[in-house]
Amino acid sequence: MRKPTSKNLRNQQRFSEVQEVELLESWIEFGKPDSGLNPLSLSPLPKEGPIGRIDESSFSNYAACTRFYQLPLSRKTKDGLSESKYIEMTEIQRASLPHSLCGRDILGAAKTGSGKTLAFIIPVLEKLYRARWGPEDGVGSIIISPTRELAGELFDVLRNVGRNHSFSAGLLIGGRKDVDTEKEHVNNLNILVCTPGRLLQHMDETPNFDCSQLQVLVLDEADRILDAGFKKTLNSILSQLPKRRQTLLFSATQTKSVQDLARLSLKDPEYISVHEESVTATPSRLQQTAMIVPLDQKINMLWSFIKMHLNSKILVFLSSCKQVKFVFEAFKKLRPGIPLKCLHGRMKQERRMGIYSQFCETRSVLFATDVGSRGLNFNNAVDWVVQVDCPENVASYIHRVGRTARYHSGGKSVLFLLPSETEMLKKLQEAKIPIKLIKANSKRLLSVTNALSELLVKSPDTQYLAQRAFTTYLRSIYKQQDKEVFDVMNLPLEDFSASLGLPVTPKVRFLNQKIKGKKLPEEEGPLLQRGNIDKDEVVTVRRKKSHVDDLEEEVERDFLSAKEAAVDGEANEDSIPATRILKKKKLKINVHRPIGTRVVFDEEGNTLPPLAALADTASADGLLQLDKVKERYEKLKEEMKQRDKEDKQLLRQRLREKRTKEKMKLTRARQEQEVASEHEEDMSGSDGETIDNKSRKRSKIYFESESDDDEKKGKKDNVGFSEDSISLEEQEALALKLLSSMHS
Ligand code: ADP
Ligand code: MG
Repeated sequence: MRKPTSKNLRNQQRFSEVQEVELLESWIEFGKPDSGLNPLSLSPLPKEGPIGRIDESSFSNYAACTRFYQLPLSRKTKDGLSESKYIEMTEIQRASLPHSLCGRDILGAAKTGSGKTLAFIIPVLEKLYRARWGPEDGVGSIIISPTRELAGELFDVLRNVGRNHSFSAGLLIGGRKDVDTEKEHVNNLNILVCTPGRLLQHMDETPNFDCSQLQVLVLDEADRILDAGFKKTLNSILSQLPKRRQTLLFSATQTKSVQDLARLSLKDPEYISVHEESVTATPSRLQQTAMIVPLDQKINMLWSFIKMHLNSKILVFLSSCKQVKFVFEAFKKLRPGIPLKCLHGRMKQERRMGIYSQFCETRSVLFATDVGSRGLNFNNAVDWVVQVDCPENVASYIHRVGRTARYHSGGKSVLFLLPSETEMLKKLQEAKIPIKLIKANSKRLLSVTNALSELLVKSPDTQYLAQRAFTTYLRSIYKQQDKEVFDVMNLPLEDFSASLGLPVTPKVRFLNQKIKGKKLPEEEGPLLQRGNIDKDEVVTVRRKKSHVDDLEEEVERDFLSAKEAAVDGEANEDSIPATRILKKKKLKINVHRPIGTRVVFDEEGNTLPPLAALADTASADGLLQLDKVKERYEKLKEEMKQRDKEDKQLLRQRLREKRTKEKMKLTRARQEQEVASEHEEDMSGSDGETIDNKSRKRSKIYFESESDDDEKKGKKDNVGFSEDSISLEEQEALALKLLSSMHS
């Protein structure tokens, strides 16, 4: 009788555990906090109210909770916690658990005594529980601690909190314990708490020691374990662990070393720093300012800002990846005098990590989108955060600056707002963000527009990027939900396009439609519009349009309707539908096409003159304004030519001056040399050898100055040959003359 009952009970328990795990998994998935979000910045979940499943499709918000029972934890862990009298979470627990429970890597820093132990023991227990880890599964988690004492203490906490779980755990530390007995058991343990040395000893000596199934690796007091003293041991340990795992690092100070992070194969780690001052929505050490910048001045303002902060590390947020590409490529060609980098959502993860670590190490400017900077944390890395385009909402603002603030040394941030976007400033201030409106110093504003238009005429690729940047910016504004802040109809399109250096304002189809009154079925923006285009229509549209650029737009249109991407052109690489092939093809066509030779077909398949595509082909009365466009373009070209001429002249003159100066310098050096060696001669009184020396020294000077760098190499002929054609004395006399005329 007893047997079947206990079997039934066990089955029943197993069944309800399966159900519990399912519930926990959906709950965790439902409430995943955005990566980079500091849960301490959220307003706390009320103490009353439902916990867990609320209705068919929603759960309570665990990212904002303050007590352990509000977290998506197994019954066994919750009981273990309350039996050990742990009720309210400490800050590091509140800040890290919502992230660690959904499987993310953590780099946590909080002072001693702040409760870091539970911040990693709970996710370890939960991960193994939800994976239904059993005795036969072997080592599922390794917790490394730098000293035996600390390892012992945390083992006690594990035993206490995990008392209702059935995992086996072992404390592997050097010293008195008999290592041979340990070796017999170690393969049956699920959780190992150990010091680095003892763990490595087992890895080396214990037969069949297997940790290939490792799920979670924890480094407690990580700064000490990553220290030079443990370097070799830790590297050997890490080389034997599987790379696919969750890694949790906790210590009193934040590790910033990119090398360490690479060594530990962290994936998009959450940097969580808890210090008293960080409880406000945004770090209080951060000086936050906003500036009103008209749309057509944004690019100039950004350029001026960069030029004024050449010794800083600057992170620049733009709203779409097309804008990032354009600003990055264009500024790069204009050489601001500081290294530039860019990050956007179209880049592969490894590439983003590489750029990120380069950025962390040197002064530079990094242009990024929200998606591109996803998962990266710029704590301690930046001096300035510049938000060129207004964030979508308050949360997005906090997200951008929250991950970029320097907790210790204080960073600065500036937000550019259009005159029409001042409502956002009010919203930020209402959310208790200490942001101050400052006035831009217009005297220091440099204009980059002329340089840009020259560049765009020379480089069709950049011009294309500028057009795309223009339209995607407008589309991003059009798509914004918050119509109180964003109004696409009030933007100065002509001026904006001119400020990017574009010779003509690109046509913006969705705006034209809106202006013509072809109202969308619903006023929610182009996503809905796209969703409502039926397939046949898209196909016919595509057949009619033969221009490659338009094809890309169609691809984007299909793509966006298939997946409601939040930010234009920033969607996931893997979810791109088959139509993307068209886009790839397009990218290969006409890469090096000379300016103004683009052949355009109209809807009947007739060719149109080049440049027509650039024009807003239909004017208000529906007539083509090609002449006007051509005229404008020609004028621009003429201007460029003229300027080019002037530049060349100036350059020639400068070169001439430089050459003369160089000559004088040489002569002066030689004179000094002469005086010195004459002096030497006098002192030594000998002859042959010194003279030899003298001539050797001379030739050496020539040699050095000639081969110094490329620029000087170019002058080699002048200097070198003149040596043959004019005698030294003559040269010196000439130089002296020049010198005296300069001094007089
Ligand atoms: P740290 O590792 O950050 O130095 P510990 O994890 O050792 O800190 O915790 C310090 C003390 O705080 C311990 O005595 C621990 O029991 C206690 N503690 C941790 N978390 C909580 C909590 N949520 N509620 C009450 N006490 C806690
Ligand atoms: Mg500790």
